Amino acid sequence: MSGNPVGIDNTSRRKFDKEEYLERARQREQREKEEARKGKERGPPVQRQPLKHRDYEVDLESRLGKTQVVTPIAPLNQQAGYYCSVCECVVKDSANYLDHINGKKHQRALGMSMRVERASLEQVQKRFEALKKRKDPSTFTEQDLDERIMKQQQEEEERKRQRKEKKKEKKVSAARQPDACMQIERTGSPTRARRCRP
Ligand SMILES: [Zn+2]
Repeated sequence: MSGNPVGIDNTSRRKFDKEEYLERARQREQREKEEARKGKERGPPVQRQPLKHRDYEVDLESRLGKTQVVTPIAPLNQQAGYYCSVCECVVKDSANYLDHINGKKHQRALGMSMRVERASLEQVQKRFEALKKRKDPSTFTEQDLDERIMKQQQEEEERKRQRKEKKKEKKVSAARQPDACMQIERTGSPTRARRCRP
């Protein structure tokens, strides 16, 4: 005799245990509430400063036309491309570099959000005045000259400092070089440079 008698419903229909699922839903709701409360306890989200304009010149051309030996084991700032010391990454060309330093990730690393502060009427008027002064050489005062000289001196000092740092880095990397070469011989594959997206 066959085990399945004819005419009797032998397909099992899934029946939901309403009680059980109600209980599960309640537990889930409670869990979500607790998580939300925990999120609130962490405090308000970090308030970053509004976006500010750059007060330095972007250096895109100082290494233009120069020849340099590029090895994959060199420190990031001596590799081909534009190095961002804030994010410690190398960007391959000037357009991408500009995108990077204007980008969200870089600004965040500098402690700024992408929001721009709303300028007041006074600020706008001041700005216009400053721009007018710059255009019109007849209203050039001694104070302006002093300011310019000061700025130039600061820039010169900054350049000197950077040159000094570069020298130091060169010394350090020269001291490290033999080690790095050994490593390549052993592993056979040089480490690749970390790339950064804008
Ligand atoms: Zn950066």
